[in-house]
Amino acid sequence: MNDSCLFCRIVRGEIPAKIVHRDEHVVAFRDIDPKAPTHILVIPTEHVASLDEAQDATQVGRLMLAAAEIARSEGITGGYRTVVNTGAGAGQTVFHIHLHLLGGRKLTWPPG
Ligand code: 5GP
Ligand code: ZN
Repeated sequence: MNDSCLFCRIVRGEIPAKIVHRDEHVVAFRDIDPKAPTHILVIPTEHVASLDEAQDATQVGRLMLAAAEIARSEGITGGYRTVVNTGAGAGQTVFHIHLHLLGGRKLTWPPG
């Protein structure tokens, strides 16, 4: 846990969020500024700043599998995208690793 980390504070319930999944290892909640009809952030309960700092393959894998489970429970049809922005140059603004789950509209490729 990191006292000054926004997403650690969401894990602890200190900052409200629309939680869609919570277990011992993973919390998922709706993005406050959604970029698609479904835009959910999937994070580990343990603080890790970014993918570049991640060391636990199981922890990272849990984010992916939780995203797939949530996509099914959200009833996303027509495909979805999972994105991990790593580092400021890639658009990471919150330094607690998170996987974006985006769906509910046509997603173009390549991303910007
Ligand atoms: P990044 O840009 O680091 O990949 O993604 C951070 C995401 O966190 C952004 O999509 C942003 O909208 C979202 N976000 C930032 N602050 C909050 C917040 O307080 N609550 C929620 N639910 N999402 C947030
Ligand atoms: Zn954190």
